[in-house]
Amino acid sequence: MKSEFQQKNTAHHFQPFSDNKELAEKGIKLISKAEGVYIYEDNGKKYLDGMAGLWCVNIGYGRKELVEAASQQMTELPYYNLFFKTTTAPATNLAAKIASLAPAHMNKVFFTGSGSDANDTNFRMVRRYWDLKGQPTKKTFISRKNAYHGSTVAAASLGGMGYMHEQGDLPIEGIVHVDQPYWFAEGGDLSQDEFGLKAAQSLETKILEVGEENVAAFIAEPFQGAGGVITPPDSYWPEIKRILAKYDILFILDEVISGFGRTGDWFASEYFDLKPDMITIAKGMSSGYLPIGGVIISDKVADVVIGEGADFNHGYTYSGHPVAAAVALKNIEILESEGIVEQVKAETSPYLQKRWQELADHPIVGEARGLGMVAAIELVKNKATKERLAPNSAGGGVCRDYSMDNGLIMRSCGDIMVISPPLVITKAEIDELIEKAKKTLDDTA
Ligand code: PLP
Repeated sequence: MKSEFQQKNTAHHFQPFSDNKELAEKGIKLISKAEGVYIYEDNGKKYLDGMAGLWCVNIGYGRKELVEAASQQMTELPYYNLFFKTTTAPATNLAAKIASLAPAHMNKVFFTGSGSDANDTNFRMVRRYWDLKGQPTKKTFISRKNAYHGSTVAAASLGGMGYMHEQGDLPIEGIVHVDQPYWFAEGGDLSQDEFGLKAAQSLETKILEVGEENVAAFIAEPFQGAGGVITPPDSYWPEIKRILAKYDILFILDEVISGFGRTGDWFASEYFDLKPDMITIAKGMSSGYLPIGGVIISDKVADVVIGEGADFNHGYTYSGHPVAAAVALKNIEILESEGIVEQVKAETSPYLQKRWQELADHPIVGEARGLGMVAAIELVKNKATKERLAPNSAGGGVCRDYSMDNGLIMRSCGDIMVISPPLVITKAEIDELIEKAKKTLDDTA
């Protein structure tokens, strides 16, 4: 007999991205508190959160300063918006703060409620840009297979997840997909660099196929997160840059995961030396304490879209929500004042990556990879042939369950196990993470 709480959840709560029937049968975990890099189930079981929630709790759990920022703002002004013709101090201050951290050519921020609707914003703003430039045929977006850009209709279409496209008849018109730089699975006999070039060149092939005059933008994550922490070979981004410089198309960099320090730089555009026209942000922007997202916009795009006047007919009730903005601002101030991003770069991410490589020796690991504060392992039955651990990616689910038994949250993306811990994780906590991951692999093998 399930508890009253479990029965209530089954009866009324439709859980996203889940087989709700299976969850009802197995019973769902109830997470009730968190502190630092640890989360706790209501039965007291403690987990090291190797995923920072959903890649977002960059400053860790339990930061009272964020609670105070929210409480103060809620008391003063919980919400206001006179049909988008007013602002609040947190929204304006947050936009200015983000612009000061973003690449120099990007100075405006459009706020949204999440990463998904930020990518929908990109979709509409890019098309508006080309209309205003007098090139209305430039409508097609080029994205990559296995990309994740969110769950709304345009964002899921921009994404390259086949299992999402299957439901709801996606992608919508005007979105096409090119190769991902996933060397482990698709590299064949090519070296990493040869494969990186080949994957990048599929963008140029597609531009020529669609016709430059019809291509609006290329959108990509710096490394594919939900796709399985696909870190591109060194040759990939330089070749993409060469292609982008040759053709007149916009470049949207989706930094929803990578933004706000995850690579050890404030933005991955700095890490990979990229010059996007728009950057999608969310998650680490508020460390997940409240929902907020946005688009950082280059002067080139802003000058046209804002231009000499006329409305951009797009926005959300919660664009620039003052409480979410106040929390995001405080979060960024903490990242700055405590030197967390610098610490990730200089100390903790090199340590994590070094220790993570120890997993590569395990018999069921085909590859261990990562950068900054993200990492992945490929689960295999046979290292030489790369035969998968179990049919239909079942190995990932088994490994994830053992990981939870061992008190570690790792995520399975098919056959890939990934981590993305809070940026404040210490070396001792990284040691604990690695030992738990090793035990999990032993249990899974
Ligand atoms: N873009 C990327 C790269 C993401 O990883 C995600 C979420 O995981 C999104 C967009 C969508 O963000 P949200 O879930 O806040 O809508």
